Amino acid sequence: MPAEPFSLATPYRTHTSGDLRADDAGTSARLAGWVHRRRDYGKLIFIDLRDRHGITQVVVDAADAPEAHEQANRVRPEYVITVEGEVALREPGQENAKLATGAVELQARTVTILNEAKTPPFYVNDPDATIDESLRLKYRYLDIRREQMQRRLLLRSRLVQAIREVHHAAGFVEVETPNLIKSTPEGARDFIVPSRLQPGTVYALPQSPQQLKQLLMVGGIDRYFQIARCFRDEDLRGDRQPEFTQLDLEMSFVDEATVMAFIEHMVIDVTKATAPERPIREVPFPVFEYEEAMERFGSDKPELRYAMELYDLAPALTDADGAPASGFRVFDETLAAGNRVKGITAPGMAGATRREIDELTEMVRRFGAKGLVHLAVHPGGELHGPIAKFLSAGTQAAVREAAGASDGDLILVVADVSDTANDVLGRLRVELGGRLALADPDELAYCWVHHFPMYQWDEPFKRWDATHNPFSGVVPEDEVLLTTASGDLDDRSPEDPAGRAKAMQYDVALNGWELGGGSVRIWKPDLLARSFNLQGYTRDQMRERFGAMLEAFEYGAPPHGGIALGVDRWAALLSYQTNIREVMAFPKTQSGSDLMLEAPSAPDEDQLQELGLRFVGVPGKPG
Ligand code: ASP
Repeated sequence: MPAEPFSLATPYRTHTSGDLRADDAGTSARLAGWVHRRRDYGKLIFIDLRDRHGITQVVVDAADAPEAHEQANRVRPEYVITVEGEVALREPGQENAKLATGAVELQARTVTILNEAKTPPFYVNDPDATIDESLRLKYRYLDIRREQMQRRLLLRSRLVQAIREVHHAAGFVEVETPNLIKSTPEGARDFIVPSRLQPGTVYALPQSPQQLKQLLMVGGIDRYFQIARCFRDEDLRGDRQPEFTQLDLEMSFVDEATVMAFIEHMVIDVTKATAPERPIREVPFPVFEYEEAMERFGSDKPELRYAMELYDLAPALTDADGAPASGFRVFDETLAAGNRVKGITAPGMAGATRREIDELTEMVRRFGAKGLVHLAVHPGGELHGPIAKFLSAGTQAAVREAAGASDGDLILVVADVSDTANDVLGRLRVELGGRLALADPDELAYCWVHHFPMYQWDEPFKRWDATHNPFSGVVPEDEVLLTTASGDLDDRSPEDPAGRAKAMQYDVALNGWELGGGSVRIWKPDLLARSFNLQGYTRDQMRERFGAMLEAFEYGAPPHGGIALGVDRWAALLSYQTNIREVMAFPKTQSGSDLMLEAPSAPDEDQLQELGLRFVGVPGKPG
């Protein structure tokens, strides 16, 4: 039998402020909370009393309870009080349907002020107030009292609870890994912590528990998960913070399909438990090869709540022999050079003003394109725009067809090398999708992107950098490609077969955000050493960086793979937010400050002494 849940009643309250209903009328109750609002009608004072669970109306009548009335006279917003009295049905017509407790009120016999409060720097009780974010962060504890923050932190708590439940049910073991470790590279800068006991040395805070979770697989844990704090010293954006939370997991004796199947099952269950009212757009989740995602959406985290896909205009601009024949020099030269002419169609935007077009052109230049060609589709199908006159009627028709464009649409075209054309149009797509409000805000469009390239060529260092993490496995059929043209792993060049190898790397995306990513790992020691070698690590560097893992792999590593999902991002998207700060209790600003605690701050001289440290070259201070 499950034990009774521990009661919310305490010496300060018999009920919470969200509990009382019509059924309770005629009984006595005591509540405790904050004064949300106070309305003074002379002999009658109304107090809306608030705690995390809700709001209850308290009435204090000078005739019935003169002492209580005297106290109620003194209270101000955000005072902490406890009130005892009788629950009564509200007068007919006075019920408040918006409040769960709106059928009743508490007629106070006693009002006790537990603590006074200064006038808050912003309205805690007004959900629509616009409040400067730095003020919210400085007084975060007051901000957290606000309804929206409460709702988001509760959702986040439900999210993590559901994550734990689904993992436990699937045989996962929750294991904590340390934060003072050695560098685990995930492509960002490490935060380091100087050691006092071993002067001159540092720990690194984990960018992720990657190596440790793989070592847990060598340790036979079989299935591990952790709600793990990760630390990455990188420039901050809306979806990044220097410390953030990942759902980190790893599984043994799995292939790609097993990990993806578990994650999909877990994501669906967790979504249903956390945000049951939000529709999931497509189940099973769509799966894209990396190349396909880039071709169709110009992104490896495609937003799928609307179409507006990228298309290739080459067939429309070439003759029967495949020779460029558009009549517009820029297109023809681009195609002749083996590059791309690609477009997207903005529905209903044919009437865009000169200024709007200039602004879009300016934007794609910032994204890295040389320019933007626009063609407005007029009634009858004629294309209008500065370059339309170069295109024959036949070419215009072919372009229109490739674009799937009809009267009133705007065709936007970028001519460039493949990666740039895709990337620029992908970003333009998201920008226009937002402006045209193409996405259903309620929908949750999860999808997979997998089979990323294993490596990308690093010309300055003449090495193959891992595109994700250095431990990602190669798809079995590409294992033979993990070599160089010459066969000597130290003699690397951009033509090496390694450049064509695909990784067993999968990312899960949600509404255009990368929600998570992982891979089946290289679990054979010789193949791992080979991959490290291609990545330019010498034997010594391998030992220095990944020594423990390489050694562990000599003692029998099971085939294994895993993934990590951003808990902050997930909570943000499930709460309709575009900034993860909104789902973090105590986040940092864009410049990495905690405005409430005033961190970072200068260390004490003693601390520096003890650690044998001295700051040199700090701007504004003599070096
Ligand atoms: N460690 C990876 C990351 O933090 C995730 C994984 O491959 O499991 O992005």
